[in-house]
Amino acid sequence: MKKTVLEIDLKALEHNFTLIASKLKPETKFMAVVKANGYGSDSVAVAKKLISLGVDYFAVAFADEGVRLRESGIKTPILVLLPQVESIKKIIKYKLEPSLYSFYFLEKFISFLDLNSIDSFDCHFKINSGLNRVGFNDGQVKKAIKKIISSGKIKLLSLYSHLAASEDLNERNFTISQINLFKKITSHIKSKLTYTPLLHMSNTSGILNYPECEFDMVRAGIGIYGCSNMLIKELKAVHSLKSIISQVIEAREGDSIGYNRSFICKEDTKIGVVPLGHADGISREFSKNGQVYIMGKKSNIIGNICMDVFMVNLKGIDAAEGDEVILFDKQNNAENFALTVGTISYEVLTNLSSRIERKIIN
Ligand SMILES: *Cc1c(COP(=O)(O)O)cnc(C)c1O
Repeated sequence: MKKTVLEIDLKALEHNFTLIASKLKPETKFMAVVKANGYGSDSVAVAKKLISLGVDYFAVAFADEGVRLRESGIKTPILVLLPQVESIKKIIKYKLEPSLYSFYFLEKFISFLDLNSIDSFDCHFKINSGLNRVGFNDGQVKKAIKKIISSGKIKLLSLYSHLAASEDLNERNFTISQINLFKKITSHIKSKLTYTPLLHMSNTSGILNYPECEFDMVRAGIGIYGCSNMLIKELKAVHSLKSIISQVIEAREGDSIGYNRSFICKEDTKIGVVPLGHADGISREFSKNGQVYIMGKKSNIIGNICMDVFMVNLKGIDAAEGDEVILFDKQNNAENFALTVGTISYEVLTNLSSRIERKIIN
């Protein structure tokens, strides 16, 4: 029996990982970003597959995401991009590698090491080179590095920053200025250290658009899940979201469909009811222009998306209850699905709630 399922295709993941790695110098390390449950997939299954393919590093946003990997037996180094003070204990216990990005976090972290007589811990240093989101800016770096060195307890395995507009080639000048600032700041930091940390800056679109930004490691997220087709067509979507027509409604001309009567039938209309709603992560934005595929044909979402269901127009589609509904798959991936309502695949994928069963294939 068919039902709602999010398929996670590990063969497609392998294809994308290999394709992106083939763009890199052989010595460049590959950090796979598996935050937000592997962009809404299954971070453990994805991480285990990537380990079998030779990935060097993982990145997660928060400590608990790293704990989940550790508890499933993963020993690969894990960078925590945005560790919070309350999670310092877990970071130490599970040997996660925190990013040091603010004086607040840095000071709390050093105090924790002092209080618990921990002599040495591996960390990473985050530089704000223009995104103005997370990290020490140019003016703060000197003081932060001084604190780190004088603590005598922190080893900086890497220095890194994040690009603000690597997917937008109209912002090339800005991106180049970020790369140059990163080079300047990191060469200052390296001159203060007695060892050599790795440097990294590129996310997926950075890897594809700015080979000069490769440094010692890259951090690929969306690309390994197959959603940067605007930049590189050969990627294959890892996520496919499929559901069914759970009921067919024969609506009459003038009938309204769904809450607040936002759709009025101009003629007698066959309506399909799909058991997926905003509680599953299908945003109400999809009430506007959202489209799904049924028997290979496009079908428009009509009426407002409800908590547990949405409705589609079955005009011209010979579909019945129990037939398959595809929201996105390899042919029409989450990037295309997102574009129909002006959002991005990152948001669509990470919205998918835990209520949707994940099915690992291949
Ligand atoms: C999420 C994230 C990435 C991955 O970016 P993609 O565009 O998905 O490749 C890399 N670096 C940082 C700091 C991030 O937060």
